Amino acid sequence: MRKDGARQPALHVGGIRFNQMEGGRRYMVFEVFLKGTLFFPCEPDRGLVRVQELTPEKAGQLIWVRARIHTSRAKGKQCFLVLRQQQFNVQALVAVGERASKQMVKFAANINKESIVDVEAVVKKVEQTIESCSQQDVELHIERIFVISQAEPRLPLQLEDCVRPEGEGDEVRMRTRALGPRTTTSQAIFRLQSGVCQLFRDTLTNKGFVEIQTPKIISAASEGGANVFTVSYFKTSAYLAQSPQLYKQMCICADFDKVFCVGPVFRAEDSNTHRHLTEFVGLDIELAFNYHYHEVIESITDTMVQIFKGLRDKFQTEIQTVGKQYPSEPFKFLEPTLRLEYSEGVAMLREAGVEMGDEEDLSTPNEKLLGRLVKEKYDTDFYVLDKYPLAVRPFYTMPDPNDKKYSNSYDMFMRGEEILSGAQRIHDAQLLTERAMHHNIDLEKIKSYIDSFRYGAPPHGGGGIGLERVCMLYLGLHNVRQTSMFPRDPKRLTP
Ligand code: ATP
Repeated sequence: MRKDGARQPALHVGGIRFNQMEGGRRYMVFEVFLKGTLFFPCEPDRGLVRVQELTPEKAGQLIWVRARIHTSRAKGKQCFLVLRQQQFNVQALVAVGERASKQMVKFAANINKESIVDVEAVVKKVEQTIESCSQQDVELHIERIFVISQAEPRLPLQLEDCVRPEGEGDEVRMRTRALGPRTTTSQAIFRLQSGVCQLFRDTLTNKGFVEIQTPKIISAASEGGANVFTVSYFKTSAYLAQSPQLYKQMCICADFDKVFCVGPVFRAEDSNTHRHLTEFVGLDIELAFNYHYHEVIESITDTMVQIFKGLRDKFQTEIQTVGKQYPSEPFKFLEPTLRLEYSEGVAMLREAGVEMGDEEDLSTPNEKLLGRLVKEKYDTDFYVLDKYPLAVRPFYTMPDPNDKKYSNSYDMFMRGEEILSGAQRIHDAQLLTERAMHHNIDLEKIKSYIDSFRYGAPPHGGGGIGLERVCMLYLGLHNVRQTSMFPRDPKRLTP
């Protein structure tokens, strides 16, 4: 029975180790494990304080903190530690004196980096700002230190190197994914990414959208083309979905009116670029409109603007943390969002010396160049390019009723790179069949999709956004692998 009277679960005693130092005396502590959880049966709740809460207002207080040893440096009778908790870190000091013995300083200096410790310490204001830490105005003067979990002495990656601007290459970071996401930069990136998903969901839910789930194992390639992964499926084979496209449209046909989904999207493209993954997270939107497909564009651009504002207002700490390692200009956007027509974009490029045909798709360099031209002229990092040539869009794209060369389709760009493709979709079964045949798509395989338009379908449109690209471009990063916790690309399937 425990002290509080609750029944003690069956425990496996892991071992005894000298891992506690108190005022220079060494204590013997039982480490008791239960399914990997470390219990301290005799310890009271220490009332742990978060590192980010260590501010000058707490000066003079004796507090407990649980954190990792980020760095440690012994110097004579003292040992300087940097204690890290997610994206926050604080300097700490153990010095020989009234409350700490020589052995305690030695003990602290010998704790391996990345170990998790509990320290009891007095918060002290510092005279000079500590530039290298997130908590720049205070340091901790440690009186007791307990090791909660010891890290192995040899780390595959030096975390303090990883967050320097000229730090470890991405390749090293990717290979050591067990440690990479621990860096303050990664902590900030993935917290911001979580924010993008949350803002996307909240904004659309407030606009009356319904979140839907669509299958990822499908019987036919949704968009045609060869870039689909085939998987064995009992006695036959199936594909991994390249997008939820056909399903979200079928939900519109089923009168859901406005739908969105967040989920994995697979592309079997051997594209070894800074912005292509073979699996990424798709943020997809589809909605019925009343009079004009620009209602759809407005709904999507407003959603993006709400996301940008939410990030700007709620994620400044994260933006600044990432900016320390990867400096970039703050992300700029206009209200209402700038919308240019494709032909205008082509004209701007031609004026800048680019030779291209009216119906030619934008190459990546031209896309980037246009982004720079738009930024110079309109001072925005976010804009829409509307009315793409029909020839470069998927079969379900609605042709422009006034000019068959073009279509009611659009891309959206952040810092000159595509983050969304979308369009008004064909909602007439006859026209859809013709366009599918024109694209050599096996009609039998998309029969249920085409059938859903036979029984009446509202005019509708939507778009697909790549989550990793949005995060990469918002933060001004240069590789989509930095915004994917466990990236999948043609050369990477682990971890
Ligand atoms: P790109 O021209 O850059 O290859 P795409 O035209 O194939 O992109 P869509 O199929 O229209 O892109 O997908 C919609 C969005 O999904 C893109 O704007 C992008 O944000 C994201 N996306 C597409 N392909 C990838 C990929 N391989 N890796 C990461 N994100 C992607």
